[in-house]
Amino acid sequence: MRVVPDVSGIDKMFDYSVPARWAGTVDVGSLVRVELNGRRVAGWVVAVDVDAPPGVELRPLTKVSSVGPSSEVVELARWAAHRWSGRLASVLVSASPDRMVDRLPRPPDGEDPTLPLPSPRSIEAFSRPGVTVVRTPPGEDLGDYVLAAARLGDAVIVAPTVDDARHHGARLRGAGARVYLAGRDFAQAATAGSVIGARSGVWARVRSLSAVLVLDEHDESLQDERNPTWHARDVAIERARRAGVPCVLVSPVPSLAALAAADRVIEPSRAEERRGWPVVRVADRRDEDPKRAGLFSPALVGLVRSDRRVICVLNRKGRAKMLACATCGELVRTENGEHLMGEVDGVLRSDATGEERPLICAVCTSSSLRRLRLGVTRAAEELAALAGAPVLDLSADPDARPEGARIVVGTEAALHRGGDADVVVFLDFDQELLAPRYRAAAQAMALIARAARLVGPDGVVLLQTRTPDHRAVRAAVQSNPAAFTVEERQSRAAALWPPTTALAEISGAASAAFVEPMMDRPEVDILGPRPDGRYLVRAPSPEVLAAVLAETKRPKGRLRVAVDPPRV
Ligand SMILES: [Zn+2]
Repeated sequence: MRVVPDVSGIDKMFDYSVPARWAGTVDVGSLVRVELNGRRVAGWVVAVDVDAPPGVELRPLTKVSSVGPSSEVVELARWAAHRWSGRLASVLVSASPDRMVDRLPRPPDGEDPTLPLPSPRSIEAFSRPGVTVVRTPPGEDLGDYVLAAARLGDAVIVAPTVDDARHHGARLRGAGARVYLAGRDFAQAATAGSVIGARSGVWARVRSLSAVLVLDEHDESLQDERNPTWHARDVAIERARRAGVPCVLVSPVPSLAALAAADRVIEPSRAEERRGWPVVRVADRRDEDPKRAGLFSPALVGLVRSDRRVICVLNRKGRAKMLACATCGELVRTENGEHLMGEVDGVLRSDATGEERPLICAVCTSSSLRRLRLGVTRAAEELAALAGAPVLDLSADPDARPEGARIVVGTEAALHRGGDADVVVFLDFDQELLAPRYRAAAQAMALIARAARLVGPDGVVLLQTRTPDHRAVRAAVQSNPAAFTVEERQSRAAALWPPTTALAEISGAASAAFVEPMMDRPEVDILGPRPDGRYLVRAPSPEVLAAVLAETKRPKGRLRVAVDPPRV
């Protein structure tokens, strides 16, 4: 049999023999221990019917540790290791049980349970194989989609967080379904029923895959931050395709990647979408003097003086470089309007595009530019004074319990940990919209959707901004994410960003030596090095990118290859 050892720095396979006492218990996916270079190491069986080359005596494996992923999942992991240019063993870790499993339990007796009927739209979403993207307003209950998946038998259901998975799993069990938590309930899930989990749940072993569902497919927590940087949405699409079963991707703000892969898109009516989104208001700050403008607009003051529960989101990083025109109030932005520019050595410069120009406003040609000083450090105190009520600063006290406080300030983590809210205010939304990242606008749109779900259809989201005409702001105000998608796709295509192309970020001491031979390859562009020494490799498709990265020899020295990097 052939084994992939779990040893960092080694991405090869080695052959071993199976002693007679383990014959029949070893299968593709089994976790074993073998001897390698004089050490006993863990590994996975990736093939069983392997003949030793003539004259070679194979060493026996040392131990069979656990049942592991199915052969279907091992094959999928091989695909992912290639697609995201990383070690197979790293992917197989995510596909393995949390605790060792001696053998799988007996399958449950009796027929599969009959479940209640979910909404017609959710049944329709699973009615055929292929990729179906469903745009759901933030106020819509996703439980129907979870139920519709589970009704088909052995479904794999992926949610952005473990808490989401537990929540939906508990509801599904309450409805009578046979459903297990990925990782923890590995053995039971492998015998019969559906499995639900966070991103690693996409690798779950099931009896006979019937459907795949990804909730909030736009959510960035579905991508692994470690190498290889596989994304559960893309793995879900491939897994369902191989099995010929429906793959349903649900989101209030579907990603361009999901839409590019979709065979069809199910959309709510305009009326349903308006009902499912809260009121999104804009505080246009261009009329305020940049020299005097604080963090708080008149609209905000009104909201915090009411009796409603308010969460204020303030990202404290990366604000030093914000400049505004003292004459017209516009932010200083790149030529395409997508990113902020800062002052470096007497000129304006953008970290995102590298473009430079003299210190003048591109809108009114005034040369009177002002650095925005928004008193971030004292935000909570000033807000408390304005509101005449105490304010809890979650970023100052990460362990604070938010339940008792009517007004909470924090980074975007406050949208996860700040408790319920009637109102969410983004104190400085331009930082999100115009960040030096190609996905900045989509990430900003995702933040609005997150806030919208938190406050519910009767709540309010307030965006304080100097770019009220930005596509994400307009789409949110109109409860019309589809309009955002159209413009975002055009913007990405014009700049040759994904999904028009595929990207890998190369960093580490060996990055220059690694990209050097790729400069001669016509299929790819090499961008960089950036000031921090990183390179980007750009290819026309993920397949071409994966092939070029696989064919390029890895030099000695530290090297990190991040395919589909979310933050460049
Ligand atoms: Zn101006």
